[in-house]
Amino acid sequence: MTPPRSDAFVFFGASGDLAFKKIFPALQAMIHRDGMDTPIIGVARSGWTVEQLCDRARDSIEHHGGVDDAAFQKMCSLMRYVDGDYNDPQTYAKIKTALGDAKSPLHYLAIPPSMFGPVVHGLAAAHCTEDARVIVEKPFGRDLASARALNATLHEVFPEHSIFRIDHYLGKEAVQNLLYFRFANSFLEPLWNRDHVDCVQITMAENFGVEGRGAFYEEVGTIRDVVQNHLLQVLALLVMDAPVGRDNESMDAAKLQLLRAIRPLRAKDVVRGQFNGYRNEAGVAADSQVETFVAMRLSIDTWRWAGVPFYIRAGKSLPVTTTEVRVDLKAPPVDIFDRNSRDDDNYFRFRLGPEVVISTGARVKKPGAAMRGESIELIARHQSNREKSPYERLLSDAMMGDTGLFTRDDCVEAAWRVVDDAIVHAQPVHLYEPATWGPQAASDVLTKGDVWHDPKAEATPPC
Ligand code: NDP
Repeated sequence: MTPPRSDAFVFFGASGDLAFKKIFPALQAMIHRDGMDTPIIGVARSGWTVEQLCDRARDSIEHHGGVDDAAFQKMCSLMRYVDGDYNDPQTYAKIKTALGDAKSPLHYLAIPPSMFGPVVHGLAAAHCTEDARVIVEKPFGRDLASARALNATLHEVFPEHSIFRIDHYLGKEAVQNLLYFRFANSFLEPLWNRDHVDCVQITMAENFGVEGRGAFYEEVGTIRDVVQNHLLQVLALLVMDAPVGRDNESMDAAKLQLLRAIRPLRAKDVVRGQFNGYRNEAGVAADSQVETFVAMRLSIDTWRWAGVPFYIRAGKSLPVTTTEVRVDLKAPPVDIFDRNSRDDDNYFRFRLGPEVVISTGARVKKPGAAMRGESIELIARHQSNREKSPYERLLSDAMMGDTGLFTRDDCVEAAWRVVDDAIVHAQPVHLYEPATWGPQAASDVLTKGDVWHDPKAEATPPC
């Protein structure tokens, strides 16, 4: 049975940074593309009027994507504003009034995680949660114990099928494409195992630092910020077994099985780094040990993947901004032609951002009498600005009750289980210079002569 569409959109944190950068632009796009016409209720404690909420929305959209006059006018006509503190029961009584006849609202908690508990309980006490859904933002917990506690809190009020944990990476076109490419083609499956894959590398690089958000980053660090969520999800989609059905449960079951097979990280599998200058950022401790870079080696204990190293590298102030997955295939068993060919010429490369590229590395013969070759890439490239943004896609799905692109409670906990010990028993950080690929020690996690493949700026496609 198709779940009913939510008939109101309530977002907490209307005055916040996320609302400004992502939520208002996504709402305008949902109105423009899907004809969304449900009440939109912004909640904040700024003492605003609904006109001021609209002004804020206009400012946001002017900075992030541009105003579409018709959609924006409609958005303002749908908007309501509720003012109040999240610890005050009156706030929820006002939300109940603003909801009017709505029977199945979607509540979006774009607020600090410490407020999730008070808000869901406040909503429940004011009878705003029957047949409702809730979206919670990342980070989902700080470790396995806090994630379990948060799940328990949410389950006191909402059944699991009504909880939508956002990992915006899952809403990205490139990540969807990774999943599609794997299971829509038959040629990968025979290669996708320990017999043919030499190693897997995932790199998520940003060429900027913490950009004034030092206080936020001090509470998080790279492992919590991007590895536990985005990169473990990408890894799961890349190497999990095929789901047994097309439904969301089958997809989650395949993902869960893979996440549970990842061996929990030990401190020696992880090298943490911090860029020189991070400690001078506002809100950062002078002796901070928070990592802005991490390199790690993961092992997956399944028949398919036993013995294959999975390397993850992520960080800030690196030479480029890009996210790339590379699956290195084993070299031919005997080198008949090129004595000096490299071992890593056969690979699949998935560039997840900023461009979307899927490519295969191969060797071809150079023209001439000699049987000499060169490395080439067969490239499929896809770039379009007309796609839905991850937030538009995810918020639209949540309104429809489709949990497919959200992370289930057991999958979140399985991912925390992988990184938990490495966080608790973290080794001291190694300093590195900005615009480099992290500390030298990042190579310590590599085995059997493997090297890091540094993603390069993508060549511009021919017109
Ligand atoms: P902000 O601090 O910018 O905004 C938080 C919002 O919550 C503000 O509107 C704030 O109101 C409100 N708030 C906090 N406590 C109360 C309270 N007791 N009563 C009423 N309002 C309250 O945070 P962000 O928007 O940056 O982040 C929100 C969530 O989204 C967090 O979980 C964050 O981790 C997540 N996130 C953010 C991203 C981003 O790019 N910003 C990216 C990915 C996730 P006031 O302004 O009055 O204090």
